[in-house]
Amino acid sequence: MTDVRLRVAPSPTGDPHVGTAYVSLFCLAFVRQQGGQFVLRLEDTDRARFRDDSEQQIYDMLHWLSLDWDEGPDKGGPYAPYRQSERLETYRPHVDKLVADGRAYYCWCTPDRLQEMREDQQKRKVPTGYDRLCYGKTREERAELPGASDAAVVRMLIPDDVSLVFDDVIRGEVHAPRPDDQVILKADGFPTYHLAVVVDDHLMGITHVVRGEEWISSTPKHLLLFDWLGWDRPAFAHMPLLRNTDKSKISKRKNPAARLTWFREVGYLPEALVNFLDLLGYSLPSGEEIFTFAEMSASFDWSRVNTVGPVFDLDKLGWLNGHYLRALAEDDLVRRMLPFLQTAGLLGAEATPEQRAALAAAVPLIQTRMALLTEAPGLLRFLLVEEDDFVVDPAAAEKSLVGAEPVLTAAVTALEPVETWDTEHIQAALDAALLDGGLGLKRGKAYAPIRAAVCGSSVSPPLPESLALLGKDRTLRRLRAAGV
Ligand code: GLU
Repeated sequence: MTDVRLRVAPSPTGDPHVGTAYVSLFCLAFVRQQGGQFVLRLEDTDRARFRDDSEQQIYDMLHWLSLDWDEGPDKGGPYAPYRQSERLETYRPHVDKLVADGRAYYCWCTPDRLQEMREDQQKRKVPTGYDRLCYGKTREERAELPGASDAAVVRMLIPDDVSLVFDDVIRGEVHAPRPDDQVILKADGFPTYHLAVVVDDHLMGITHVVRGEEWISSTPKHLLLFDWLGWDRPAFAHMPLLRNTDKSKISKRKNPAARLTWFREVGYLPEALVNFLDLLGYSLPSGEEIFTFAEMSASFDWSRVNTVGPVFDLDKLGWLNGHYLRALAEDDLVRRMLPFLQTAGLLGAEATPEQRAALAAAVPLIQTRMALLTEAPGLLRFLLVEEDDFVVDPAAAEKSLVGAEPVLTAAVTALEPVETWDTEHIQAALDAALLDGGLGLKRGKAYAPIRAAVCGSSVSPPLPESLALLGKDRTLRRLRAAGV
């Protein structure tokens, strides 16, 4: 039995699309279950949309999600090269064969002529599609007619009886619309996606083509090419399109969540995103919603993949993120927070051992309070900030410090004599001075000015714990500075 070989084939045209991770995840679940190989191929023949930094971003984001490939441009492999732009000479002989066999033909129509043709078809309300003006003509014959250019493209000659039905691993029998005479070689000599994908899937021994639902309409053309070139057809699995909550297709222009880098920037954990993407297309037989990639892979079955466009519900992702954040070991959470604290300027490029120790001590206070890693700087600023840089947020000052001198004075007086500077003693001293038996305040009211003065904000981890972490000197200094 041959190993299964699956591939993901992103085009490096900008920030990696969330669909690249989605497809990779499902490919990998199957490959790891079956013991086959997963290939990363870069479909970079669209030179107009090519972006230089995109390739590295694709690697970074897939690594971030631990979606690792066995063969690819960076790793090499038995079917290298894995960048289509480095395989250009591979495609041409297949085009020549298709032309020689009468399966494809040259077309010299200029873009203007094609545009006019389409407009005319629309006006006449007939189906749009290439009208085969060039079919059966030599270059000289065609040059006699208007709208001819010097450089030719090559088009498939789609037969009248093309089969529009195929078997999909996820969907069963699928009916696709009739294709146009697809261009397979562009005037610049680059193959189009449709030719390159078929040639490469064949030459790379791909057994299952897994891709988004938007490619269903192209599959009949691809099947024709496999047949015409005398190659075995791979299996096809079309994943449901990811949709916005209004059911529209998720696109990078309209929704930041279509960009993989966005999830890392706003502080989601990769394991939460992987679980979320799993859930968008898959459910475990047990119905359990929180599961790892390994669990999904072990139970993987194409028949369990959803075909109904899954809705990208960020509330669900937030819920999963909270779960995974709470499950992290202390030092792991510290490690994950570091880049966010560095970006916020609270830590240098290297956290000092003291800073790391302070963070580790703070983790139990914030772990259950965070929904996203980007909240870490706000929660920890009071602890990490250089004393000279400490300022009280003006909104918090306005809300809680105006007229609060009696509370602040009482707090200083109560805290000065505390010798054992821990949560328990701090709380006992503050409560005795500020609640019943002292100023007679409720705890929330009593703590608000202290929180503003010492933490600089209206939200902080629990107050006595925060003061314990901050230390007596800094606590008293800030209380005094706030107006005592
Ligand atoms: N380059 C195509 C894309 O980025 C790949 C489609 C396919 O997997 O066949 O969507």
